[in-house]
Amino acid sequence: MKKNPLILDGNLVANRIKEALKDRVDRLVQQGVRPCLATVLVGDDPASATYVRMKGNACKRLGIESKRVVLERSTTTEELIDVIQELNNDSSVHGILLQHPVPHHIDERAAFEAISIEKDVDGVTMLGFAQNAFGQAALPSCTPAAIMAIMDEYKIPMEGKHAVVVGRSPILGKPVSMMLLNRNATVTICHSRTQHLEQLVSQGDIVVAAVGKPNFIQGDWIKPGAVIMDAGYNEGNIGDCDYEACYERASAITPVPGGVGPVTIATLLKHTVDAAEKTSGKQQ
Ligand code: NAP
Repeated sequence: MKKNPLILDGNLVANRIKEALKDRVDRLVQQGVRPCLATVLVGDDPASATYVRMKGNACKRLGIESKRVVLERSTTTEELIDVIQELNNDSSVHGILLQHPVPHHIDERAAFEAISIEKDVDGVTMLGFAQNAFGQAALPSCTPAAIMAIMDEYKIPMEGKHAVVVGRSPILGKPVSMMLLNRNATVTICHSRTQHLEQLVSQGDIVVAAVGKPNFIQGDWIKPGAVIMDAGYNEGNIGDCDYEACYERASAITPVPGGVGPVTIATLLKHTVDAAEKTSGKQQ
């Protein structure tokens, strides 16, 4: 009889990360440095506003300052870059998070590139990505780092395993592929032009879903015993994998909600504290 899969509990992993941060935040505060994350939201997309609020609240609960910058939807690329430059120059700010996606008329890449590498707590700059690809990023992208943190917490072997990543976005699919490669997995990256997707996914010992389409990865695509890391977060708290059907085949699976999401936020807090320690010269 098939054993039930291990449910990879993101809340548990997130709580461990946050618990480990408490002393570090206290020490910084005693030394006169309050770690501070600036979040920049352009426009009034309700989902983005919710994400930013969740991040701000998570900061507060840990004693991290949260500076919220909300800009009109009509903000130009130049105006947004000016705001980011101000935050770069503000020594009380240690991390900058530009909430993605920004309105279409803004050059998102140019805005991301304006974030200084020391404050790039979500690994969105090209330099941050390159450092990540070389295994040297101080602050890698949060969701990919969260996926790796969950696998490490549950001691999921990566070396020599075939990891199939579905999605190649600069903030998720690409960086997580590089991280898996750096851990000696053999990585296949799939995207919207991939042919025979189902066959490729069915070869994965590890499947990372980063597509942005609810219930997209089907249970009968999954190799029995595969590990499913579902980064998807779609309207109605639905992941990118058909959870019930994938559960039947997997040896381990992240739920949605309660999987990758909470660990992503905890990782953002960790990166903000990392950045605060580094820039204030008070590394532990
Ligand atoms: P994105 O920028 O829209 O990228 C989606 C990727 O999926 C693209 O690379 C796209 O391919 C690929 N794709 C789309 N349709 C496909 C198809 N039919 N077959 C194969 N590949 C296909 O999305 P993202 O920002 O990476 O986010 C992905 C998911 O993760 C979303 O559900 C998002 O909400 C979630 N997310 C969660 C967190 C978290 O904290 N849990 C954080 C960030 C994102 P092309 O490159 O060819 O277009």
